[in-house]
Amino acid sequence: MNQGLDIEERVADLLKRLTLDEKLSLCAGKNLWSTKPVERLGIKGFRMTDGPNGLGAILSVFRKGTYFPSSICRTATWNPDLAKQFGVALAKEVRSIGYQMVLAPAINIDRTPLCGRTFEYQTEDPYLNSKMAVAVVQGIQNQRVAACVKHFACNNQETNRTKVSAQVSERALREIYLQAFEAVVREADAWSIMAAYNKVNGTYCCENRDLLIDRLRKEWGFRGFVVSDWYAAKPAASTESCVNAGLSLEMPGKGSRYEEKALREAFKAGKFSEDELDRNLTGLLRVMFLVGLFDDERTVPAGSRNTPEHQALARKIAEEGIVLLKNERDILPLKTEEVRKIAVLGPNADRKMGLKGGSSMVRPPYEVTPLKGLKERCGEKVEIVRNPAEADVAIVFAGLSQGLLKGIDTEGEDKKGLELPADQVALINSTADVNPRTVIVLINGSPVAMDGWLEKIPAVIEAWYAGQEAGHAIAAVLFGDVNPSGKLPLTFPRKLSDSPAHASGRTFPGREEVYYDEGVFVGYRHFDTRVIEPLFPFGHGLSYTEFAYENLRISGMEISVDVTNAGDHAGAEVVQLYVHDVEASVERPLKELKGFKKVYVEPRQKETVTFTLGKEDLSFWDERTNRWTAEKGEFKILVGSSSRDIRLQCVLEYLG
Ligand code: BGC
Repeated sequence: MNQGLDIEERVADLLKRLTLDEKLSLCAGKNLWSTKPVERLGIKGFRMTDGPNGLGAILSVFRKGTYFPSSICRTATWNPDLAKQFGVALAKEVRSIGYQMVLAPAINIDRTPLCGRTFEYQTEDPYLNSKMAVAVVQGIQNQRVAACVKHFACNNQETNRTKVSAQVSERALREIYLQAFEAVVREADAWSIMAAYNKVNGTYCCENRDLLIDRLRKEWGFRGFVVSDWYAAKPAASTESCVNAGLSLEMPGKGSRYEEKALREAFKAGKFSEDELDRNLTGLLRVMFLVGLFDDERTVPAGSRNTPEHQALARKIAEEGIVLLKNERDILPLKTEEVRKIAVLGPNADRKMGLKGGSSMVRPPYEVTPLKGLKERCGEKVEIVRNPAEADVAIVFAGLSQGLLKGIDTEGEDKKGLELPADQVALINSTADVNPRTVIVLINGSPVAMDGWLEKIPAVIEAWYAGQEAGHAIAAVLFGDVNPSGKLPLTFPRKLSDSPAHASGRTFPGREEVYYDEGVFVGYRHFDTRVIEPLFPFGHGLSYTEFAYENLRISGMEISVDVTNAGDHAGAEVVQLYVHDVEASVERPLKELKGFKKVYVEPRQKETVTFTLGKEDLSFWDERTNRWTAEKGEFKILVGSSSRDIRLQCVLEYLG
């Protein structure tokens, strides 16, 4: 209880005072969302809640929370500062209900566009994933709330998630799937990691010593605790396999593997030692101290919920995350003076999304649907009609939903295909037939196909599930109050079979095993290297202005470029830097993202963007030597506005 002492001393002191029974009782939850208290020593229940889009709805029946844009939308901002602000706000909401940990961010790689949790995850790219995840974790934890980064590891599909083993090469693990987990540990000192439901290379994550001890603790220096995903320890081989593998806490309830009797018996039989138990609990106690569980309440940040600041932040993230996919004939932004009648159509025009999608659902105080946002923006001046033939512009709010229809963008199952529901395709076509000024606003959390209609439609917006302020943000983008600056954090394929995980039934969904045969060729790494044209490429997103790239220069490992806003609208551009290894001793992706910066530029103004590369940005995981290797020679540096809109390039000569 002595706040004057160093935290490590406090942890060691408390650990010494715990009896064996008390230690065992701390290994499993008391109920769904709390650990068991040890009253004798003043250890209160350590409480946790979902999740990645805001305060978990299950808990907040009477305590509503800000529904922030889903993670995929947040990542589409390519703005780590906003991600950090989101982390701060999320932590404040969690703290305001007296909780100490948030089960977020969720950072599994988007391996297949069908994954039901794509909306909850961030991206297909490990570099973007790392930068955004680190920012979120830093934001959360600087409020003295623990981030619980999930799901470690390779929970890239929902089908068979509690049975399947992800069979993945060491190189793909290193270069793709583990990168962001490593980054949150090394760069943001993540206090907790959630072990996933599935197996990795044959072993359940909850008893996977290779993941939980060798990599997480030994290699990356993790000092926090590992919690099981809810019920994920159940199918593990034994109690001791989990303890020995470094699983600190089994959730929820009384535990299965960590049921007290099972723990006691395994301990008595010598199947694990007290040292191992102590190692697991040290991380948990450490986090209890870090969040201030033993401290005077007045010294711990109080938190706040649903404040105007959080609402404004939800809106800002939505505005920056919305992606303008297509805009021909400058049909957008809509001009108030030219639009008298708008036809508003489609199943998502007035549908609320917060309370759907699985464990990430949020119960917001209000949710502005697209229709509501449009009505507010247009006021009396514009008439909203149903008949597209009589309107100046028709807007179809199409897309998916978060669980009204089974299997659509939801936890627990994967999508069956990329197609939009047939009635929506018919609606889009019939609307376009009678009104050439038809705009499609997509509301969904994962890529969809656009066969048979995209050519006819002049403008398409990807608005994701953009949180409780979605409607305001969409209206602001449609009318140009906000100049869109979002960029796709994942490839939209033309068809499913183009996607690397869909080569065969073995690569998705698999039965006992799912084989990651594509190796490191995930997302655009696959589309670029195998020369497959995507529907919309990774990093794509248009603006109402034009950005000109000039004067790419390189000095050592430092690269600079000038970006000029050549149009009339102020706006932000995400400048992207990709690296191509010209000659390598192994097959490498054609290009890999190794830098990005979002810059805001006034019309006719110029900004200089500078990137500094390191050796790690040139490296691959060499399975022959089991090391990161950067080979001497030429690397092309590609700078542009998307992965397929490279504006300038130069050569970096790496001398070793
Ligand atoms: C999900 C986790 C979530 C947990 C608690 C699990 O089903 O996979 O992401 O944090 O439930 O709700």
